[in-house]
Amino acid sequence: MMESITTDVLIIGAGAAGIRAAIAACKNNADVVMVAADDVTYGGSTFSEISKGWGIQGLVDAERTAEKLEDFYGDIIQVGLGQSDSKLVRILVEESGPRIEDLISYGLKFKRGHDGNYIRARGCFSETERAFLTSDIANIRQTFLSILRRWPVRVVTGSATELILGEGICLGAWIIKNSGTFVQISAKSTILATGGGSGIYKDHMGCGGGFGDGYALAYLAGAELKNMEFVQFAMGLKHNGSRKFLPTGKLDLPNKIVNSSGGDILKHYMPDNGQRLESLKARQKHMPFSCRDSSGSVDIAVARARRLHKTLYWLDDEMKNNTFEVVHFAHAFNGGVKINERGESTVPGLYAAGEAATGAYGADRIGGTMMTATQVFGKRAGQFAAQRAKRLNGMPARVIGKDETDRIDRLKLDDDVLHALAAIESRVKEAMGQYAGILRSNKGLKKCKKIVKTCADQLRDLEFHVPANFERYYKVRNLIITANLVTKNSLARKESKGSHYREDDLKTIEGTVK
Ligand SMILES: Cc1cc2nc3c(=O)[nH]c(=O)nc-3n(C[C@H](O)[C@H](O)[C@H](O)COP(=O)(O)OP(=O)(O)OC[C@H]3O[C@@H](n4cnc5c(N)ncnc54)[C@H](O)[C@@H]3O)c2cc1C
Repeated sequence: MMESITTDVLIIGAGAAGIRAAIAACKNNADVVMVAADDVTYGGSTFSEISKGWGIQGLVDAERTAEKLEDFYGDIIQVGLGQSDSKLVRILVEESGPRIEDLISYGLKFKRGHDGNYIRARGCFSETERAFLTSDIANIRQTFLSILRRWPVRVVTGSATELILGEGICLGAWIIKNSGTFVQISAKSTILATGGGSGIYKDHMGCGGGFGDGYALAYLAGAELKNMEFVQFAMGLKHNGSRKFLPTGKLDLPNKIVNSSGGDILKHYMPDNGQRLESLKARQKHMPFSCRDSSGSVDIAVARARRLHKTLYWLDDEMKNNTFEVVHFAHAFNGGVKINERGESTVPGLYAAGEAATGAYGADRIGGTMMTATQVFGKRAGQFAAQRAKRLNGMPARVIGKDETDRIDRLKLDDDVLHALAAIESRVKEAMGQYAGILRSNKGLKKCKKIVKTCADQLRDLEFHVPANFERYYKVRNLIITANLVTKNSLARKESKGSHYREDDLKTIEGTVK
């Protein structure tokens, strides 16, 4: 007998967005079930061990003057290069302060200066010091865990594999618990808070899988996704499994990035001294790559050199015992599930929040606004999902049955199947890095699309050799769907814009890298 759970609001994902949504739904008297793929406050970008904290943009208290709110709004719109939803940006700006004040009241500690005031930092792509900073991962974990514990949220540890649909309405989801058993969760409202998809690239900064589960589940359910071509990449260093951001402030020193014979890559690929120094100066203003200004030439030079030399190294006296490889890490997605002001997707009953959703930023994103979005739209999704559930109360639960137990019992995992799955996964990740990373072109993206399609066919052939409760199968399926969405959108956008750079866009725009 398969386990089944009925609830008002189902939240898939337990990062900052999922937890914020859970509180809001509980406050609106909904019964809430949260599915967490990892232990709560581990896994996902919110609790990343790489940065051990984050910045969050917002205007609080007396700062919330009409002029400052307008500046903040204008800043996000300008950085988004026409790709953000102005209504959602307006909401993000207006509600940023109250959501940060909520976090402070929950016990989150933002950094303070010697004068006792909060330190405020410039986020990437912005000139205004608006971001609050956290740097104590233990405090972040403790805060989110303790607020979650204050509310009667039932947590199921497992992975959502499919949304349940009936007549085009989302009715909940299928979950594979970590024990390998299926649970059918019937919900009046379902919120995707599954984070981003940077894990579809071989080199990525995400934690855990990050294969874009939410994008894939939403896509399969027929929801609209937007801006999937805008993926943030940042230069980084990797060594024996450790990953860190590249200190861009040191790039103007000679011989920092070298090939295997010690050749200075930046000097070679950017021979004009004046231009190189100007680009390197611009490069320090934001961590993610963008072709919006001359800073992008640095990343393009590094990516082209990597294409030729395969491996590049970082030389640094402070790290002389290590040989760090220079790579571009996929860092975060600016695109995702299209939502409205209530956090609803285009599928009734399905909501999205945090990095799974898009709208409040565009081709580029001011550093710190992603965390703001987790709080602003997490709260909204939770609140409106609960209100929808209330409206539907008294109506019978509409659940479509599905019995997978035969396949669970019947099939045993075969080593060949495991190897085949791993090979598909690594082929897609390689192709994404090669053709849908920093350097994109019609020819390369078409190649990538073909590889992804071949991998999808291979996966389909494996379906009946894999037990239905084998979670990895669904992860690889999600990876393929997300990779396909990024590739398709990148092919469609022929012009370079922000984080999306097309090598074959021959239009030279003043102030834009070519
Ligand atoms: C190193 C690093 C530094 C960053 N720094 C900043 C910063 O300073 N400021 C900023 O604004 N942004 C920053 N970002 C981006 C920001 O951290 C993320 O966008 C944000 O944390 C996303 O929160 P989220 O709740 O949407 O998703 P996450 O925190 O990623 O959580 C997603 C959750 O969903 C779960 N999940 C996924 N798939 C499934 C499934 N199928 N079933 C069940 N559960 C699932 C995961 O286990 C996880 O619990 C950074 C990102 C990284 C990687």
